[in-house]
Amino acid sequence: MTFKELGLNDQLLDGLAAMGFEKATPIQEEAIPVILKEKDLIACAQTGTGKTAAFLLPILHNLTNTTSASIDALILVPTRELAVQIDQNLEGFSYFANVSSLAIYGGRSGESFNQEKKALTTGANIVVATPGRLIAHLNLGYVKISELKYLILDEADRMLDMGFVNDLLKIIGYLPKKRQTLLFSATMPPKIRTFSKRILTAPEQITFAVSKPAEGIEQMVYLVQDENKAKLLQVLLGPKKGKGERILIFSSTKAAVSKIAKSLRSTGLSVGEIHSDFDQKIREETLRMYKGGRIEVLVATDILSRGIDVKDISLVVNYDVPSDGEDYIHRIGRTARADTDGIAITLVNRKDERKFQGVERLMERKIPKSPLPPIIQEREDKLASMPRRGGNSRHGGGNNRGGYNKNSKKPFNRNKGRNFERR
Ligand code: AMP
Repeated sequence: MTFKELGLNDQLLDGLAAMGFEKATPIQEEAIPVILKEKDLIACAQTGTGKTAAFLLPILHNLTNTTSASIDALILVPTRELAVQIDQNLEGFSYFANVSSLAIYGGRSGESFNQEKKALTTGANIVVATPGRLIAHLNLGYVKISELKYLILDEADRMLDMGFVNDLLKIIGYLPKKRQTLLFSATMPPKIRTFSKRILTAPEQITFAVSKPAEGIEQMVYLVQDENKAKLLQVLLGPKKGKGERILIFSSTKAAVSKIAKSLRSTGLSVGEIHSDFDQKIREETLRMYKGGRIEVLVATDILSRGIDVKDISLVVNYDVPSDGEDYIHRIGRTARADTDGIAITLVNRKDERKFQGVERLMERKIPKSPLPPIIQEREDKLASMPRRGGNSRHGGGNNRGGYNKNSKKPFNRNKGRNFERR
């Protein structure tokens, strides 16, 4: 179906044509008519389906050429990166439509807080915000939000996982009861259903098959102990130096992100790193450099696993198995976006094997285990034959470094509870 057939106005059609969007994606075909009918909506859809345009386009259609002394539409998102990305989408779609928008999120200077304050005081058609930053403004009393017409929650499951539920309810308390509310979520656990009952009225529901990675992703697994992971990455990625490929590596901990980046830099690859200890400006600049091709490899925590849309990522590596199967699907979903092909490699140590079986169950498919390159296999064999303290041979990560202690039969992880990334 074309966007013209969906009834969008000419200014938006011009913007979409300039962006090269020819046909609506399935979620756009289903969601846009529902939103134009002014119904509340719950949509269960992953990123990569075109969900952002599915909610932005009908709202932009309604707000084209309108001015407002208040905020017309509020889009709440879990991360700063997603706020910036949605704002960029907004700029593209509304290039020919006269609609004002603003992204507000933390981690920046006092100057940007003042700019946000000014815009929130004078009004803007659309505001994209992270909950914490918006509450900081709402607490100061000047935000003109009582005339709001549209509330959109994007990545609602992630916002609840991150503990934003009270912030969201507080924000919603400032909004008029009569409004159109749209909730987008990659998963629909019971807590989302309960939450949605509190904030939506007689919503229509759209569900797209979730928990299944895109068809175009080739998934591979290497069984390898922690001691050999960095070396394996060097072997796998070293030959890619200067090939113009875009590679994304995920790790659960901040400390590992820095270690991986350092190890890969030593092979001559250009490597950037992103986790929550970096200043927002640096995070944005690193992402820009990566998108612009000035960085070949980006190493990140799960802060980047959802929602972030970078084109042409050819390879995603999971340095460890994420604790939640949905996170795995989101991480590997960063490649093979919009019907292209991509490869996703996961490094699984002995202690993560069972966790990975859980991921396979969720996806309802087994991922073939790839043979290790000979130089790494040799190291694995050597490691396995090394005596442990107490005389046993090693079973995976020795030195108490996130391995499997044969004596206790209990997996242990030095980083547990200390250094895991909070988004
Ligand atoms: P999203 O699921 O919103 O993160 O979108 C995934 C990617 O698909 C983004 O790069 C969008 O720009 C792109 N996209 C969304 N809708 C369309 C469309 N109708 N035609 C072509 N590309 C699209």
